[in-house]
Amino acid sequence: MASDLLINRRVVKNTAIIAATLTAGSLLCTLIVMAFQPSNGENIALALSLALVIPLVCSIPVGLYVTSQGERLAQLNALLEHEATHDALTDLPNRRAFFDAVERRLIAGKDAGLLLIDADRFKSVNDSHGHHTGDEALKALARLFADGVPQEALVARLGGEEFGVLLPDATLAEARDCAERLRKRVAALDFRSPEGALCPLSISIGIDVLRNEDRPFPLKGADHALYAAKQDGRNRVSIYAPPTSSARDEKAA
Ligand code: GH3
Ligand code: MG
Ligand code: MG
Repeated sequence: MASDLLINRRVVKNTAIIAATLTAGSLLCTLIVMAFQPSNGENIALALSLALVIPLVCSIPVGLYVTSQGERLAQLNALLEHEATHDALTDLPNRRAFFDAVERRLIAGKDAGLLLIDADRFKSVNDSHGHHTGDEALKALARLFADGVPQEALVARLGGEEFGVLLPDATLAEARDCAERLRKRVAALDFRSPEGALCPLSISIGIDVLRNEDRPFPLKGADHALYAAKQDGRNRVSIYAPPTSSARDEKAA
């Protein structure tokens, strides 16, 4: 309804601009021709009327056409923008959109929690139930993550069976609660192959907070923590512990 009103307004605006331009041009041409041609009062009235009426009438279909083409272009642009920033399988924001959002957060100097999520032993899902089931599992995980995070969070598919979550303003404790909630929900998910075979899923999650010094890969700490979660047996959440200054000094020595 609101978009119809907007389109109608655009039609009127475009038509008015086209009508004004065509009429001005047409009148100018007529006046120039009349200045060099001998003409009587009747001819002048007819010429001026045609110079006014023809462009005014023509501007209506031209205005409609220009507006419809403009709308089509806007829709195509929106579609292209979506394709460039979203993952085709899950329709979640993609890696580029995720890192852009993280970078904006860093530039703004605002805090955030970061989760790096990796599906456990996902290769065996494909091997046991087929690639198609693997794809459906990734879609199910994507839905579960998108539904399970706070509204202001950004969930993205970073690639393969790896997902990222940006939690604006979250503390480590809040990020951990969110990660635990997701982990438990995945472990309790009754996911089945199209043939009905039960296909248990689990995830491991590395957690960190956003840090300027981790540029250009702000998920460095979360990646370390994810590695630890995998080493500790998978289906678990691990928080990154940055090295203390004394440990850093020892390493440097
Ligand atoms: P780990 O617990 O150590 O993470 O084991 P893993 O098997 O999950 O890890 P690995 O890196 O060995 O394998 C990842 C698997 O994820 C292999 C790959 O085929 C699968 N995968 C990645 N992207 C897709 C996808 O888009 N669809 C499907 N079906 N599988 C995918
Ligand atoms: Mg992986
Ligand atoms: Mg994996």
